[in-house]
Parts: sequence; C-alpha cells; structure tokens
Amino acid sequence: MEKGIGASSGYGIGRAFIYKQQQLTIDKTPIEPDEVKREIESYHSAKTLATQQILKIKVRASLILKASEAKVFDAHLNVLKDPGLDKRVIKYIQDKQYRAAYAVSLVQDELFNMFQMMENAVMKERALDIKDVCTRIIYCLKGMTLPTLSDLEANTIVIAENLTPSDTVQMDVSKVVGIIVEAGGRTSHTAIMARSLEIPAVVGAKSMTALAENGQFVCLDGESGEICIEPDDAMKEMFEQKRLDYLEAMTELRKYATTASNTVDGRNVEICANIGNASDAGNSMKFGPNGVGLFRTEFLYMGKSNWPSEDEQFEEYKKVAELMQDKATIIRTLDIGGDKELSYIDFGKEENPFLGWRAMRMCLDKTDVLKTQFRAILRASAYGKLMIMYPMIINVTEVKRANALLEEVKASLKAENLPFDEAIQVGIMIETPAAAVTADSLIKYVDFFSIGTNDLTQYTLAVDRGNEKIADLYTPYHPAVLRLIKMVVDASHKAGKWTGMCGELAGEANLTKLLIGIGLDELSMTASSILSVRKNVVNIHYEEAKKLAQKALNMETAEAVLALMNE
Ligand code: PEP
Ligand code: MG
Repeated sequence: MEKGIGASSGYGIGRAFIYKQQQLTIDKTPIEPDEVKREIESYHSAKTLATQQILKIKVRASLILKASEAKVFDAHLNVLKDPGLDKRVIKYIQDKQYRAAYAVSLVQDELFNMFQMMENAVMKERALDIKDVCTRIIYCLKGMTLPTLSDLEANTIVIAENLTPSDTVQMDVSKVVGIIVEAGGRTSHTAIMARSLEIPAVVGAKSMTALAENGQFVCLDGESGEICIEPDDAMKEMFEQKRLDYLEAMTELRKYATTASNTVDGRNVEICANIGNASDAGNSMKFGPNGVGLFRTEFLYMGKSNWPSEDEQFEEYKKVAELMQDKATIIRTLDIGGDKELSYIDFGKEENPFLGWRAMRMCLDKTDVLKTQFRAILRASAYGKLMIMYPMIINVTEVKRANALLEEVKASLKAENLPFDEAIQVGIMIETPAAAVTADSLIKYVDFFSIGTNDLTQYTLAVDRGNEKIADLYTPYHPAVLRLIKMVVDASHKAGKWTGMCGELAGEANLTKLLIGIGLDELSMTASSILSVRKNVVNIHYEEAKKLAQKALNMETAEAVLALMNE
C-alpha cells in the first residue's frame, strides 16, 4: 500500500491513466546578435497565444467551477502580465543571447524555486502557477500543444506528477473517479478543485507516475491518503464496501447543509465557517454555513513585501460580504506575531513570541495599520453584514483604545460621506485566561465574545500549542479550560449578549452536546466539519445537554471529561 496526503474525501476505484507532459528538448545553443530582436518578438507572440489559451480555458472553467475556483486562471493571467517575468526573460535573450524557450525555462526554475522556498503555503502554491504558465509559453514557442485530459475512459484514476488548474479544467470529470498527484499539499489547486468537484484525491504521493502503469487497477482513500495498486480481490471488496458506506453517509449528511441549526427542543445554535480569504468563503458555501465566525485576515498580510493597501483589503472583505449576503461575517483584525511573521516588519528578538508583541498589542502601537484595516472593513460593511473582532485581548484598556480608534475612523468616513454600517457589531476573542476571568467587565465594551480555544488552552495550561513533546498535555478538555468557557458564556448572557467559539474545539463533533450544554450560541469551524456538527445539533436536547455539561464541568481530569463524552 502506498501513501500520500488525503486531499479530497471519498474512495476511488478504477483504472490508472498516467498523465505526463512530453519531455521537452530545449535548445541551449546561443543565437546570433542580429537574431535577438526576432527572438524577443517570438517570446511576446508566444505569451499572447498563451494568454488567449488561458482566457479560453477560463471561460470553460467558469461554466463548470464556482467563480471563486475559476479565479485560478486570473492568477495565471497575472503571471503573464507580470513585468518581472518579461524583464528576466528578455535579459537572458539580450545579455546571453539565449533562445526564448531556454530563457523562459531558466526563469521558470528561478521563480519556481523562489516561491517554493517561501514559508507561506499559499505562496508555495503560486510556484505551481508559475511553472504551469511558463510551460505553456514554452509549448507555444515550440508550436506544440499541451497534452489534455479531455478524452478519458469511464472510471479513470488520473495519476500525474502534478495536475495544473488548466489540466483539471480540461479533464472530462464525468469519467474521473479519483485523482493522485505526486506534488502539492492540502492547499494546492488540485486539492481545492478536487474537493470542489467532489472527486476523491490524494496529493503528495511520491513516485506514483513511476510505480503505476496505464490500465492498472488502482484504489485510493482520499481521507487517509492510502493508495493500492493492483489490489487482490479481498482488498478490492473492502474498498468497494468503504466507498458505498461513504456515499451513503455523505448523502445522509448533505441534507444538513440546508436544515435549520436548532436543537430538538428549539435552541438555535449557529454553525459557521472559519475562512482565510474570499475563496475559502466560496468553497464553504456548499456546506451551508450560517455565517463566517472567523475570518483570519492575517493571510492578506502574509507573503507580501509590504502592508496590503486599504483598497486591496476592502475588495477582499467586500467579496466576502456580498457572497454571504444577509449572513454575518466576523472579521478578525490582524493577528500577527507569535508564530506568524511578516517579512516587512521587525519583531526584534523575543524570548517568548507567543507572550510577546503580537496581535492587538502590535496594532495599538502601529495605529495606522489598525486604522487602515478598520477603514477597509467599515467601507465593506456597506455591502453585507460584517462584524469586527479583536484578537488576544487581556484587559479593558485595550478594548477601549481599539474602540476609540474605530470611532475615529467612523467619524472620518462620515466626514467623507462614505457609506458604512454604523451599527456594526464589535466583539473580542477570548484567548487568554485574563480575558475569560474578567469577561464580566469586558462585555460592557463589546457586543459579543468568540472563544479562541486554540490559544486559550495553551495560555491556561501553560502548554505551547505547537510543541509535539508536550502534545498530550495540550487538551482543551481540561476542566480548567471548560470552566473558563462556562464563565465567559455566563458573563455574556447575563449582559444580554452572545458568545461563539472559533477555536478548533468548536468543530469536534463528539463535543457538540457539551458545548451546547455550556450555552454557546455559535460554533465556527473548518467548513468541512459543518455538516457533521449540524447533524449533532438537530439531534440534541438542550435540556439534556445542560445536564451533561454540568457533569463535565465537575470532572477532575481531562481524561474523565473525554470518557464522559464517549459514553
Ligand atoms: C484560537 O486561538 O483559538 C483562534 C481561533 O485563533 P488562531 O488559531 O488563529 O490563533
Ligand atoms: Mg488565537
């Protein structure tokens, strides 16, 4: 059994189709000086042709994919428009008298390596966009056409080194029952598109194009990442049974995308999605979120060479606001620092970055950064229902200072006659024991709380959330964490306000009953967890859940709480 990374759930059983680009021979002999001009012209013509091809694919993509996913081709067009690409290629042709195809292949390697080295997963994936676009230009230069996936047999498992967005779009998806690629991670375009097309997929499956042969029987598990080439009858049968069970469970779960999030006895608990950008919001829609409970805006700031402008942010927030229509989106202000760095700001050396100059602490020093973000959010609030949330709060003073800055920004927008939601709700994340214990004071200055259990657990237990040596101590089931959650919920309810949860705990389906019993009003999670959590909500009796919560809160250990949950 081979293994990769499960990227799109489900079980694929079919015949392998190995999809490989032809080996391109690139002429490395230099040209004559008087051929330079002509070579540069050929490069520009090839780029024009590549642009036309991508525009065509984009039209097809917009018919079979959601708008947010078809956007990949805008990323490709942007690569083609990037003057940096021309500059590098033309420099090779002019200075070294390289042929255009050779120059493009060198620039392709340089840019690919540069983006691959970046920490940010999204940037790493951009490396694949660049590779894809440059390969297309080289094919155009050589007057060749890229191989396609448009003519496949039924029940095909496509196996490729890498599947670019343009490959996926040309693929006859009705014939494809599984995808295996050697490259990429869970955030690669292949993974995102496979999930959106609901085709089981495994990515990061090393050497698969060499291990499997065309026509061989292949089974894959898109959850665990397991792949079996030429399985015996027993193995085939096992995969087939799993596939049928999975399909049945999915059909059953799908109805929860549209059911109301009410317990049996009528308590409403909103089940929302956590997102990092507008494209995530688009992808979440098929799970029927009741809103966005956490928009982690730091991804708009990361992998850049400078602060994102007000307009850049405004466009992204506006997209989400319009997409969610009357459903609320909670936009968290910049939560940087700790393990999330920005190349364009010097955090200095910190002994304990998680206890350091981060999130709201930094924003209250760099008020221009915060005010720019407030302006962008407020302007976008004219297009949908947005809320603002401050991260990493420890005291009332921070909240009052942030609120004062928000009021300043509102006043300036009014003076400029720019429309925004004047009654926009403002909340804070409860991520520190200090905030949880003083929730009764903090609630006076905000409209809602959202509990960030990822950080609340690490700060309450003094256990680093990223240190695998102490991973067994990092447990949000610890009664200390649960009792703090209860305190926060009670404080908000006493003030007639509400509390949600956006840490990972919210998406753990075996805890839904406990969290509802504690009194949480909203749970926000990775979109793919929404259906199973909502299924739990509609089967829970709130009155029973309250009793269960009372029992759990009185437990002495995390293990005892877990045992109770699994009863
Ligand atoms: C949290 O701390 O629970 C949270 C949701 O924020 P993040 O994971 O982005 O730190
Ligand atoms: Mg946090």
